[in-house]
Amino acid sequence: MLDIIIKNANIITMDDSRPLIRGGCIGIDGGRIAFVSAGSEAPDATAARVIDADGNIVLPGLINAHAHIAMCVMRGYADDMRLNEWLFERIFPAEARLTEPAVLAGVRLGIAEMLASGTTSFSDMYFFEPKAAQIVLETGIRANLCNGVLALDESYDFERDRSVTELYELLDGLHNAGNGRLKADAAIHAEYTSPPWVWRRMHALAEKHGLITQLHLSETKKETDECLSRHGGRSPVRAFCDEGVFDTPVLAAHGVWLTDEDMLLLAEKGASVAHCPVSNLKLASGIARTQRMLECGVNVCLGTDGCASNNSHDLFEELKLAALLAKGSSLDPTAVPAYRALRMATVNGARAQGRENEVGMLKAGFEADLIMLDTHRPHMRPLYDPISTAVYSARGGDVVLTMVQGRVLYENGEFTTLDVDKAIRDAEELAMPLVLGK
Ligand SMILES: [Zn+2]
Repeated sequence: MLDIIIKNANIITMDDSRPLIRGGCIGIDGGRIAFVSAGSEAPDATAARVIDADGNIVLPGLINAHAHIAMCVMRGYADDMRLNEWLFERIFPAEARLTEPAVLAGVRLGIAEMLASGTTSFSDMYFFEPKAAQIVLETGIRANLCNGVLALDESYDFERDRSVTELYELLDGLHNAGNGRLKADAAIHAEYTSPPWVWRRMHALAEKHGLITQLHLSETKKETDECLSRHGGRSPVRAFCDEGVFDTPVLAAHGVWLTDEDMLLLAEKGASVAHCPVSNLKLASGIARTQRMLECGVNVCLGTDGCASNNSHDLFEELKLAALLAKGSSLDPTAVPAYRALRMATVNGARAQGRENEVGMLKAGFEADLIMLDTHRPHMRPLYDPISTAVYSARGGDVVLTMVQGRVLYENGEFTTLDVDKAIRDAEELAMPLVLGK
């Protein structure tokens, strides 16, 4: 007997050999997908639980490839500001006041928000990550965690740096824990926050332990211009590349100011770029040329970035915007069609996390990370094409079921592994006074 069968579903598999199955059935057993069939009832299988999807859309769980999840405690704290004032006058001082319980309250709140809006896996760069890892394991979500090195002063000591010691802590028993749900990533915060020798050290760690390296890349014009003068006319991509950083897998956030040459280099190195359209618009960083990146062969995925520059973790917003911005900025309505945008949030995100053989598609043998969208709502009907509906009509709030590794973590407004009221209360009682400096 299987664990779960979902029947009567409009299934978006993201498997190019049959991307859409109308009125199909999915069998789940031992955390994995046992079968995806075209019939509305499972042929010979029985299950401990049968879920009648009643025409709802089932698709792979969305993958948020760039987040600073704990920053949701700063949701709405600093809006409509210039990047430098925003960062140096509001965000950095508030972050310096945050204690471990305040950060972990943010992690819980952020995970609740992600699960309720259809995200089943996220890549995160922040601090207190070994403690955040415990919450990831406990709540059942999937995550790649890192703490990006910042080496701004002369006396910087790599081995004593908190981001490095947190990486060692993650590698000591947490990396690949939870049946592989949790992974540690190496991380360089950005080109402008550390010197090349630090990048080489971090790259050596990535190489030694077989890790992905997360970093911020070419987010703003200022950053890119300053890199050109600091590194003898070399772009951030070229500067990192010359130090070997791209010789192991890299997941780079933003890529707003990449040149064609940068894109070809990233493609050649097999790097991924996490496109963060809402954050880039809110901080007026610009619009990433995703269509061109895809044409160059770059693995483009999607991220929300931190909640202080978004202010949500709803990947359905990023999904729609990714498709719309590509069209509006290129004056080409055929740029980044719905299926391509959805690939960014699923298949490409899985590849960026080093999980391309685990998740991102609904097919036999893959781990059962999936979500269900309620189609019984006015804005979801009529239902001509479930892929179009998922990208252009759906919102995070339409998610009625979220499953990771075959385990239901959220269903019809209820969380099975976390107390959402406590998460909200903790964020407001533990973190808000610190953010406000009171
Ligand atoms: Zn970021």
